[in-house]
Parts: sequence; structure tokens; C-alpha cells
Amino acid sequence: MATINENYLKLKAGYLFPEIARRVKTFADAHPDAQIIKLGIGDVTEPLPEACRTAMSKAIEDMGDRASFKGYGPEQGYPWLREKIAAMDFQSRGCDIALDEIFVSDGAKCDTGNILDIFGKDNTIAVTDPVYPVYVDTNVMAGHTGPANDKGEYEGLVYMPISAENDFTAEIPSQKVDLIYLCFPNNPTGATATKEHLKAWVDYAKAHDAIVLFDAAYEAFITDESLPHSIFEIEGAKDCAIEFRSFSKNAGFTGTRCAYTVVPKTLTAKTSDGSDVELWKLWNRRQSTKFNGVSYIVQRGAEAVYSEDGQAQIKALVSFYLENAKIIREKLTEAGLKVYGCVNAPYVWVKTPNGWSSWDFFDKLLSAANVVGTPGSGFGAAGEGYFRISAFNSRENVEEAMKRITANLSV
Ligand SMILES: *Cc1c(COP(=O)(O)O)cnc(C)c1O
Repeated sequence: MATINENYLKLKAGYLFPEIARRVKTFADAHPDAQIIKLGIGDVTEPLPEACRTAMSKAIEDMGDRASFKGYGPEQGYPWLREKIAAMDFQSRGCDIALDEIFVSDGAKCDTGNILDIFGKDNTIAVTDPVYPVYVDTNVMAGHTGPANDKGEYEGLVYMPISAENDFTAEIPSQKVDLIYLCFPNNPTGATATKEHLKAWVDYAKAHDAIVLFDAAYEAFITDESLPHSIFEIEGAKDCAIEFRSFSKNAGFTGTRCAYTVVPKTLTAKTSDGSDVELWKLWNRRQSTKFNGVSYIVQRGAEAVYSEDGQAQIKALVSFYLENAKIIREKLTEAGLKVYGCVNAPYVWVKTPNGWSSWDFFDKLLSAANVVGTPGSGFGAAGEGYFRISAFNSRENVEEAMKRITANLSV
């Protein structure tokens, strides 16, 4: 008799995006002429940089010639890509990260989930609330939690609320936790972390033999020069942190798929009898066994991000989205709303006015302006009373959406 992983039954049914789709459909059916603008989902809209496309075309030619054809590549990624990542994303910022500490993959989403393969079952897991749902759901699937309560909080997880009151940075816990998920610049709130804030986490992690799982998928959006791009800019982080990066948001690779994870060689965790094991070895073994590398063509595309043209082109791409974010921020402020984020991140986190719930605001925005965003409550109980608007869209759509909001949404 085949049985299932019953942890999957604990997952709250994917509620957020289906419910958004349902409400949008109901509205669209009733108002067939409405031109609905979607500023909801966190996917990029602008085309791949030319440098990446040119490199990928050339790589396709390589595959067509017996002499330059590539079969299986290294599971960890080609050295020419890992070398550029190490030099340009880390060493250039004073982080002592070497090529062999970088594992190229097909996504930061997959890596943040897969990383649980190498950790024990009894770790205490801390996540912020609101949070990128992947961190929570993968822990549920792995059997690290009990069931969810009415608010959608899973038993056994430590939720660290983030809101305007604490500047969207979690308090360092007073209890002992073992794995801490941090995401800066943050999805969904658009908040950033200072070096001091990350240092407090590194100090906590070192004091408690904990590990920080640091998601830096939006680091390219940092414009404030005082902010760290990597947790490895903090002294001591190589002994207590794993970092996830992605080409999805800086170079538009959401559909092309390339990312990487940094596991320092000095990073260890304990066996049940208290001895230290290098996590690098376990992750290397995990990837070599369950993963066969990212396609040669895509890795050549990612490599081109580090060329002179590639750097200029991704900078332009990121600036484009940040300009959208600035327009959204200014117009929503003009409309009388309180907004957060959207300076060093492509997300605008809006406080709902008049005590409206996240879903009340969703409905008002849809009916008054025909604009769709994401209710903050969908990212966690503490997201209630907030709303996420994404800057990933065309300029035309952003300007039109903001025009309608300032004209029609009375708060
Ligand atoms: C978009 C995003 C990623 C990137 O995921 P990929 O699988 O590399 O596309 C990672 N973390 C967060 C928080 C994100 O929003």
C-alpha cells in the first residue's frame, strides 16, 4: 500500500492567488469594459538583456559543433561562471568568498526549499511575518511543523512580526532558534537591513550555534550605498550563514532560470551527538545526487551579466523598475496613502487607510481604479492591514494605474 507524505495535507490550500483570480474574474464579468491593470504578481516584465541573449545564441552554436558541444556539466556550475560570481558579487565588496563555495542552480526558490535536505528534523525555525511563503511551506512539507491555526500560523514555527512599528526588521528573538530565514531587500515589504541589523543576527547566530538562511534575491535593487548587499559583508557571517542569490530579478531570468547559493567552507552544524559537520560537504553531496546542473546555454547567459555590456544593461533594467517604484510611491503618497519600501526594492508596501482590511483595500482598488495588487494578509497574519504593489510592469501600465488611483480612490 502506497502512502503519502501527510505533511502536505497540513498545507493551507493555495488560497491567496486563486482568491485574487476569483475576485478579478467576478469583477471583470460584471464590468466587461474595464481595463484591469495587474500590479500583483512578482514577475518581471521587460525583455532579457541583449548581452545575455547574444551569449546564449553563441552557446547554442557551440552546442551544434562536435568540438564545442557540452553534455553534462559540473553539478555545481561551470567554473568560468562561478569565478565571475565570486569576483564580482563578493570579492569586489570585500567578502572572502571563493569559487568552490558557490553552487549554481536553476532557482533561489528551489534552493531555499531544497536546503532543508541537509538539516535535521528537530531544528527550531524562525520566519518573519509577513514572509515569502516558500520558506514556510517547505518546512511544512518537510514535517517541521504541526497543523495551521485559523490565522494560518503553523504550530512549532517561531513567527517574528515585522511592521511599521519595528521598521519591518524583526526583533532578535529572546528564545533560542536554530534556523532563521531573512530576506533583504524584503519581499513583500520592500524593507532593507543595515549592517548593524545583520551584525545583530550574526552575533545571535554565533552565540546560539544557529544558521541564518539569507535570501538576497533583490540585492541589485539596493541604491543606498551604506546598505550591505550580502550577509558576508558582516564579519563572522561565514561561520553562520548561507546566502541565496538569483538572476531572476536583476537580469530578468524568471523564465530562463539561473541562481546560486553560497555555502562557506567554514560553516558547520552539529550531529545529534554534538560533533561538527561541514555543511558544504552535505550540500555538495545533495546537489551532486539530486541535481544535474543548469544548462550550458543558460549559464553562458548568466555569465554575460558580468560583462561590461551586461553590467550596464542590468543596471538600466533595475533602474527602470526602480523608477516605476518611485512613481508608485509618489502617486500613492499624493493620494493620501502611507507607503513603505520601494526605494531599494521593487515592492511598495501600503498601509491600508481607514482601518480597512487587506481584502477591503483589494476590493476598493479593483472597483475604483481597476487595479489589482496583493493583500498583505496573504503573506502572513501580521501582513493584515497592508497591501503589496509590485513595480514589475511597463511604464505605461504603472502611470495609468497611478492616474486612476489618484483620480478615483478617495481615502
Ligand atoms: C523572486 C524571488 C526569488 C527568486 O527565485 P528564483 O527561483 O530564482 O526565480 C527568491 N526569493 C524571493 C523572496 C523572491 O521574491
